[in-house]
Amino acid sequence: MIKLSKKLILSCMIVLAICLGLPSMVNAAERISWNGRLSTGKDIYYWIDPSCTYTVSIPNAVKKIRYPSGMWNPIVLNKTSTKSYSKMDFYEYNDISSTTYAYTKLYKAKTNGTENIAYLSELDSIEWVYGKIYINDGNMAVDNDLKSTIILHEICHVYGGKDVSDNPNTIMYGYTPVVRGLTSDFNSVLVQKYNY
Ligand SMILES: [Zn+2]
Repeated sequence: MIKLSKKLILSCMIVLAICLGLPSMVNAAERISWNGRLSTGKDIYYWIDPSCTYTVSIPNAVKKIRYPSGMWNPIVLNKTSTKSYSKMDFYEYNDISSTTYAYTKLYKAKTNGTENIAYLSELDSIEWVYGKIYINDGNMAVDNDLKSTIILHEICHVYGGKDVSDNPNTIMYGYTPVVRGLTSDFNSVLVQKYNY
């Protein structure tokens, strides 16, 4: 999930902690991925719901993960128009009252209901088989490069990325992105998890 930036609040908290002489209040670096991964996730198809209008930003985000600048990873991700082939579906919704740009749900089985959702508490111990990415058109960024970066972040969730709050220089930062592409930390995760 990516939400509107609370960078200012975080900065204030860190400054306050230092001023109070309590640097231990500042968290050590968080992990950027779960131990689990997308089952047989190296070479998969994605599918875009016909009512989803992000038909340019999604392929641009896919390019950012498949062809990261100066790096290599084993990920193969191609578009399909056959939903049953997909392991990563894209949907659009509209909630102007929300600060969420987009979010992702992971599933332990490919079903239409919610009964097989993989919860955060499970992601260190299981493999999941399917991910659904929901883009909030009511709160999406205007800038095209930022749009595709937000979608890239959600794609990384499907591959096992975990939101972090203490490092704005990674694609897994859970607030308004600072970077505009795949970062080397998560590229390494992709190599470790999927180079089989
Ligand atoms: Zn996220």
